[in-house]
Amino acid sequence: MSGWDLPASAAGALDADRDLVGDFQKAGFTYVDSSHGLANAVAGHGPGKLLGLFGWGNMNVALDKISARRGVSADVVNAYHAPDQPMLDEMADAAFKVLSKNENGFVLMIEGAHIDKQSHLMDVDRVIGETLEFDRAVGVARKWADKLGDTVVVVLADHECSGFSLMGALANKQSASNPTNLGGIDALKTAAPADLAPAKVVGVYDAAGFPRYDFATYHDGYPATYDVDKKLLVGFGASGDRNETWLTKATPVIDSLLPTAVKTELKAASYVSEPYQRDAGKGWVIGGQATQQDQAVHTATDIPVSTYSSGSDVWKRFVGVQRNTDVFFKLMKAALEGADGRRERD
Ligand SMILES: [Zn+2]
Repeated sequence: MSGWDLPASAAGALDADRDLVGDFQKAGFTYVDSSHGLANAVAGHGPGKLLGLFGWGNMNVALDKISARRGVSADVVNAYHAPDQPMLDEMADAAFKVLSKNENGFVLMIEGAHIDKQSHLMDVDRVIGETLEFDRAVGVARKWADKLGDTVVVVLADHECSGFSLMGALANKQSASNPTNLGGIDALKTAAPADLAPAKVVGVYDAAGFPRYDFATYHDGYPATYDVDKKLLVGFGASGDRNETWLTKATPVIDSLLPTAVKTELKAASYVSEPYQRDAGKGWVIGGQATQQDQAVHTATDIPVSTYSSGSDVWKRFVGVQRNTDVFFKLMKAALEGADGRRERD
């Protein structure tokens, strides 16, 4: 609690007989609660066991963490009482460093959980930022697989969320019914809500063009801004009701796992609890979605499975269309029988 600077009223009931962090430490784990603590812990040889807890419930998303790291704005991470959180690729690298010391191998599960959570909230730019962060974690896994020489990396999702699909680009469309071309993205940021109506700014086919995201300004793997000319626009097949201005949302929807005291603080600071409350009165307002939900929902859309293996052909077992439960059995087979499938079971 004190490590995360949470208000005293955020504390739940304490079990005087149980100190979980203390129990981990007694069992030999090094405990860290910040990005800098993590970096210090894994410097050099690093610990044999490591526990990192970096926030209450869900951590902040990449878009807000990166904004703080760049010195652009730390408002959101400060408002969440977690000003110094590591990125997913940094946590992944630390986990590989610690776990790869095990002579008998290891299993590591890395989740970019906010890809789903921000899809529920239909916050497109925060989904894209999370996907970039996850992609960087996959890069870390591949690097370690090459280094270790006998490792399988499986990249997949448990399901799709929101019916997320690229439908076009943000573009002023000049036509007989829309004679005024406002100009590029800077003009759209200050446009009247009526000028952001889908018929006026959703460019499809040849009116879509190509987005020009800027990765050169910061060199940290994330675009300088998500609001660019010809910005990617996303439609939601399993949408909940929402307000939509197309532009980056200044604040995230309040995370449902935060303590009540912090949620109260965020509401007082004009953060909203549901997507439909966001940017109220501005832009495109949808009513009566098919799902009749406040948030977007999971879909049954097929998801891609990508596999990489070093020192074996295990990746080949995951090629093609497969049932989701088969992934588990294929991984168990590789783990129990060995990469070549001939190792004796004991
Ligand atoms: Zn979900």
